[in-house]
Amino acid sequence: MRSLEKFEPSCSGLVLELGLDRKYPQLAHHNFFFSDDQRAHFHTVFRKRELPPDPTIYLVAASRTDPTVAPDGCDCLKILPHIPHINDADPLSRDDYMVFKERVLDKLERMGLENLRRHVVFEHCWTPHDIRERYRSNSGSIYGVVSDRFKNLAFKAPKQSERYPNLFFVGGSVNPGGGMPMVVLCGQNVAKRVVEWDRGG
Ligand SMILES: Cc1cc2nc3c(=O)[nH]c(=O)nc-3n(C[C@H](O)[C@H](O)[C@H](O)COP(=O)(O)OP(=O)(O)OC[C@H]3O[C@@H](n4cnc5c(N)ncnc54)[C@H](O)[C@@H]3O)c2cc1C
Repeated sequence: MRSLEKFEPSCSGLVLELGLDRKYPQLAHHNFFFSDDQRAHFHTVFRKRELPPDPTIYLVAASRTDPTVAPDGCDCLKILPHIPHINDADPLSRDDYMVFKERVLDKLERMGLENLRRHVVFEHCWTPHDIRERYRSNSGSIYGVVSDRFKNLAFKAPKQSERYPNLFFVGGSVNPGGGMPMVVLCGQNVAKRVVEWDRGG
């Protein structure tokens, strides 16, 4: 078990998907609404493991590049603040996450998405518990294991088992890491390695 300590889960997220009856033309496809104090924000999420008072928010307005995802004159937004993974010893409740959701909406309204709440016609919200239940991810993490130079020199788990040479691993917890591009790259590299191993390489 001690060898697993270096593979702590990464952060989780609150996923808020909103359908709106209007567009916010100032939004690009990818948008960040930063915390006033990024250092304090990271400290709160990754060290204190608390919901941040002033979150950094990633927001995707996919209709900027694919107009078919929302009706004319409307927007659909994916809103994702990064928050701590689930602490099973003292888990947050859905109500805690819903209070945090309101903080996120307050911030977006304050930072230019005026009257956002009034324009919501559809809403879907996922907490870290929903993510864990749906994907069986460790503690609701969304990027596999954490990249931490003190815990694991920022390396993820190796692709091939040291104990069973015919056992290979792939995905967000395996090198090079989480996120769709890295996970696809991992799959390609593991496939090559399996072929090499099969040929006796
Ligand atoms: C909310 C959210 C937002 C994200 N946003 C982005 C983003 O914008 N850009 C980006 O690049 N990455 C994003 N990611 C990260 C990205 O989705 C992951 O890094 C990637 O999906 C990991 O791939 P994986 O194959 O390791 O795991 P997964 O994609 O989770 O696939 C694992 C699959 O295995 C299934 N499974 C688990 N246990 C079992 C079992 N016992 N038996 C059978 N099946 C099982 C799960 O249901 C799941 O379908 C996001 C992740 C989340 C959760």
